[in-house]
Amino acid sequence: MGAMTSTRALVLFSGGQDSSVCLAWALANHAHVETVGFDYGQRHGVEMAQRQVVRREIAERFPDWAPRLGEDHILDLKGFGAIAQTAMTEERAFEVTEKGLPNTFVPGRNLVFLTYAAALADRRGLTALVGGMCETDFSGYPDCRRDTLDALQNALNLGMAQDFTIETPLMRLTKAQTWGLAKALGGEALVELILEESHTCYRGTRGARHAWGHGCGDCPACELRARGWAEWLEAGRPEVAG
Ligand code: ZN
Repeated sequence: MGAMTSTRALVLFSGGQDSSVCLAWALANHAHVETVGFDYGQRHGVEMAQRQVVRREIAERFPDWAPRLGEDHILDLKGFGAIAQTAMTEERAFEVTEKGLPNTFVPGRNLVFLTYAAALADRRGLTALVGGMCETDFSGYPDCRRDTLDALQNALNLGMAQDFTIETPLMRLTKAQTWGLAKALGGEALVELILEESHTCYRGTRGARHAWGHGCGDCPACELRARGWAEWLEAGRPEVAG
């Protein structure tokens, strides 16, 4: 576990595998942690339901972290979702565009999310903005790159006269290593919690429980999650320091 600080953090928390690990990381590294979710017209309410389950189970199973877990906030970004018009919000097949980006890419999504998160953090007295952005992601979303986030952190601090840090504990990790970070933070109990309760599937399928968790099994998000889990097993389930 990381050294405790007196800092107050806001975690961008969707209820997925990555943001669930980020929530645990924040609870291990910050004195007070709040969460924010964005309703931008997702296809399904499964993510919104599972994020509450993950929060509740973390508080129940990790008594050291429970007192640090503060409020949850939901921000309505349906207007932004209406602009994006991609497979995340519309019933369209998964495709790859001419820029090599999947059409699940919502342009500027993380820039918008972090700007809203910063405005909320300002009002709540929170200084660390924690997100699961990751450069090793299969899709190479340009708003997940550390360069982009460094520029945004600078812009937010200049524009809001603040001293925010954008913290991205998964930035250099593969999906397999993210499981290793979960194990380092909370042992097998946290790995099991995230396997069972976090939700990643684009189709919103919960039903079947695979070795790697719930999901349809053949959307890009499920494929990525399944591959990461298999790689971590093959490597002998090593812990990865955060
Ligand atoms: Zn799926």
